[in-house]
Amino acid sequence: MQVMKFGGTSVASSHTMSQVVDIVTKAVDRDRTILVASAISKCTDTLISIGNMAACRDEGYKILIDDLQERHHAIIRELLPLEKHEEATEDCDAKFEQLRSIVHGVFLLGELSSTSLDAIQGLGELWSTRILATKLASVGIATKWIDSREIIRLDGSRAVDTALTYANVQNMIDDNPITQLFVVPGFIASDKDGKMTTLGRGGSDYTAALYAVGCKARLLEIWTDVTGMMTSNPKTVPTAHTIEHISYRAALELSHFGAKVIYPPTIQPVVNECIPIYIKNTFEPEAFGTLIEMNPPRSKDKIIGISNSDNIALISLEGSGMVGVPGFTTRLFDTLSQNGINIILITQASSVHTMCIAVSEKDAEKAKTAADKCFAYEISLGKLNPLKVEKGYSIVCLVGDDILNQCGTTGRMLAALGSHSITVRATAQGSSERNISVIVPSKEVNAAIRHIHNEFFDKSPVIDYNLFIAGYGTVGRALVDIISRKKDVIEARTGKRLHICGLSNSRKYVIDTDGLDLTKAAELLDNGVPAANEAYFEELAKTSLENSYFVDCTASSDISYKYMNLFKRGYSVVACNKITFSAPYVQYSALKQAALENSRILRYETTVGAALPILESISRSVNSGDGIVKIQAVLSGTLNYIFSTYAGDESAAGTFAQVVRTAQEAGYTEPDPRLDLSGRDVLRKLLILSREAGVPLDEADVKIDPILGPEFFSVKIPQFYQMLADNEEFFAKRYREAADKGLRQRFIASLVKTSDGYKAAIGLENVGPGHPLYNLCGTDNAAIIQTEFYPSPLVIQGAGAGAYQTASGVLNDILL
Ligand code: ADP
Ligand code: ASP
Ligand code: MG
Repeated sequence: MQVMKFGGTSVASSHTMSQVVDIVTKAVDRDRTILVASAISKCTDTLISIGNMAACRDEGYKILIDDLQERHHAIIRELLPLEKHEEATEDCDAKFEQLRSIVHGVFLLGELSSTSLDAIQGLGELWSTRILATKLASVGIATKWIDSREIIRLDGSRAVDTALTYANVQNMIDDNPITQLFVVPGFIASDKDGKMTTLGRGGSDYTAALYAVGCKARLLEIWTDVTGMMTSNPKTVPTAHTIEHISYRAALELSHFGAKVIYPPTIQPVVNECIPIYIKNTFEPEAFGTLIEMNPPRSKDKIIGISNSDNIALISLEGSGMVGVPGFTTRLFDTLSQNGINIILITQASSVHTMCIAVSEKDAEKAKTAADKCFAYEISLGKLNPLKVEKGYSIVCLVGDDILNQCGTTGRMLAALGSHSITVRATAQGSSERNISVIVPSKEVNAAIRHIHNEFFDKSPVIDYNLFIAGYGTVGRALVDIISRKKDVIEARTGKRLHICGLSNSRKYVIDTDGLDLTKAAELLDNGVPAANEAYFEELAKTSLENSYFVDCTASSDISYKYMNLFKRGYSVVACNKITFSAPYVQYSALKQAALENSRILRYETTVGAALPILESISRSVNSGDGIVKIQAVLSGTLNYIFSTYAGDESAAGTFAQVVRTAQEAGYTEPDPRLDLSGRDVLRKLLILSREAGVPLDEADVKIDPILGPEFFSVKIPQFYQMLADNEEFFAKRYREAADKGLRQRFIASLVKTSDGYKAAIGLENVGPGHPLYNLCGTDNAAIIQTEFYPSPLVIQGAGAGAYQTASGVLNDILL
């Protein structure tokens, strides 16, 4: 004999029922079979809602009944042969009339008794199995439908009377020698008075186990909507994988703590008989699934899976009166047990003046009342505090074989949580050698499971990097474009798979933790969520993925405190935003400190000279014990264009005003060219560069020799150009003074070590033919870095701006 159980999703519709029929048809060729089925998907939930609504005098229940009836009619129409429609519909409708009559009684009474609830919630299994049996008989299998209420019997204490039940199953087999397939409803049973009752939510698995033991089945197959028991719930952890072989004990441990793929009591009866259990996927029948047995093949993986239980309350008993006084624990446990409260987990600090236990939230109030009553005397003397109850927690369990002897397991588990700032409220280890449990706030439970899963199960040679970009201007677009075209090349070269999971501009944002479709990035963003009131950052703070990078391609000035929050949530930051890193030094150093404290990466190479490795070269020197002697750098492509083009007269490149205008028209300047000519941009870069060299400069420490006087900045643009033209002689004279000596004008930022400390300056300087900056033309940038170990300096030169150059620098910062 074999027993096959199909869950609610497997019998959800005529389509899925056809798949069940295919699987069962093949199976009955191998052996006589008992088929246990659940109600169609969501049916039991709906029946319970119907009962509750009626009890609350909400007539809306009638619509729910009509809908449910129509779902069953549709299955009959679509699944069964025409000649069976009438009979099957009548059979189905008779039970719907029964339902309407019970529920009407509930409505009139305004109360849902447990007997009525049982009579209502168990109907789903009757409908589904009657239809299935009709179908299977119609395809030529010798099928018999049996009412489980006549087989599975409870005793006076509402536990299953196993002896009677097993005997009933055996009789069922013996009395029907020519039946090849028994179709039976899961979940329902009858009590000792013969009244209909149920085995608890998810109880069809238990039904199947009881039939399996009763008929001494060769094996029990549980067919569901996932490919076996997995390392975690695949709905929470998409990377979870199937555990092909698992022992009864480990499976029990996983299911007990929430892996509802099997209902915990299921295992117990079959363990005693050593009946193997297969968990199989109805929608992928060829896949092996999971085999649960007594002695599975030995695996080198000691860590098996992760599961969780929600709706946990923590109860703390605290007070000096507990210290050194024996018996408190016993009294507490006795009280709770007398009140039927199940203790899920216990921790007690060695100081023994506090004790914390976890119970189900629904028991919390009862536990408090009982314990406060039990300890009323000690509480009145102030030796104990009244019991403290905190709700909203979940238990996350790491399950494995001989887990306590695995060195470092707890450490890895806690580190995975700690590095993503997930609060661990309590831990318990040793309650069984197969599980380490932590208690975390329920709102963080999914993130907690994913991080633990990643630590123990997801180590693969390719690492996923999840990028959340802010700013979709020229650099942001170029970055998206490079990643969308070169993702595979990047993965092949670096072993890092890039996913852009978030994108924002100042108006909208879009997040998809599976990765955005980059061919439609602009469109997705246009149709995104409004980004007002920091909505993007709030969403990011809630999103918890491994290797998350926040990529700042904005020029926003108030973003650094947001970085700090993101560090706490596990993000690293890569930025090309100069404003943040040239903010007052205290802010800059607080930011660096925050990255360090949270062990996060903070990189911003492209804030100086785009992708030129200027900051990296400086920090490499300083980090390796070298000392900066002098840095001279041309850090504004715009200013370099202007001063390397202007030739002091009208004949060649034109007047100074004309050269500035040409630069503006070519897009080399900001919309207002004075922003470049003020030297402010260069000042920012010099601050960043100096700080990288370990010199903590602020704006006031830099000597600025301005190109233009303040009068140029207080007028409108046309007037400004007029003033440049009026002052042509001033610019020409300055040019000639240099040219006459064979020198060229360059706008230089410098940091020089003197006997009096470092001196920083920006301004126009004249350089001769021997100087590395003499031949620097066009919009290029350059940095000359002279150090103690490199008296003959390192010269870095190349494009210092441009969307693709900057985007490639940002990418390098991410991939470093
Ligand atoms: P059925 O209706 O077939 O009885 P259930 O919904 O009761 O199915 O159980 C299957 C579900 O169990 C899966 O869809 C999955 O979301 C959930 N689940 C939770 N933990 C695990 C796990 N460790 N492995 C597999 N499934 C799990
Ligand atoms: N239909 C019942 C429930 O949803 C029993 C089961 O499916 O296992 O709980
Ligand atoms: Mg189930």
